[in-house]
Amino acid sequence: MYRNGRRLRGLERNLLAALLVLFLCVEWGPLSDERARWGIASGNPFVKEVALTFDDGPRDRGMPELLAALRRLDVPGTFFLVGKFAERYGPITKSIAAEGHEIENHSYTHPQLTTLWVEKIMREAERCNEVMNNLAIRTPRFLRPPGGGFNLKIFYALRRMKMRMGLWSVNTADYTGRPAHKIIADVLRGVRPGSIVLMHSGVPATVEALPAIVSELRARGYRFVTVQDLWNGGAI
Ligand SMILES: [Zn+2]
Repeated sequence: MYRNGRRLRGLERNLLAALLVLFLCVEWGPLSDERARWGIASGNPFVKEVALTFDDGPRDRGMPELLAALRRLDVPGTFFLVGKFAERYGPITKSIAAEGHEIENHSYTHPQLTTLWVEKIMREAERCNEVMNNLAIRTPRFLRPPGGGFNLKIFYALRRMKMRMGLWSVNTADYTGRPAHKIIADVLRGVRPGSIVLMHSGVPATVEALPAIVSELRARGYRFVTVQDLWNGGAI
């Protein structure tokens, strides 16, 4: 009897642990059956929409060219801006918003957020949001952690701020100095319905690559939207 009792208590303990894990998973989202509440790396896989995203801006160089290219092509971009640069280049930041692009959060100083504690992570994100508010730009809803690395501390910080993670599914690695034709080839090979393409602000090869990317994807029936549009359309 005693042994059975011990075994039962052991079983109960395991059951409790399993329930706790289940609760955490459902609570955190990644294993939840419903729409992933933690964020987005790509949109609805049955809708031919694609979002072009531009990190690390605003820059002192290359921004007018990028904005002009997007205007010419009539494509909305999603800009994950670094708060301290947005502060330094206020007029450029405002012009990105004025052109109708979406502005999202890429932290204030661009640190490796995975190495920071929750309060510091929140401060990084909040300071970036504050810069946008001071520039009369709507508060970002998505945070893209610099480098794309994330952990539970970042999930927790985002939950507390009611923000989402904004990741990507196609990486152009345009920041490495690759030529335009390689960026074009990678995007055209990698894009699927709902893709989020990672590019960077102020990279001449990216600006050069845009017309071919846009015209080919449109020929394949794709529509260009923002990350928020993809989210609204049913992220998985
Ligand atoms: Zn970055």
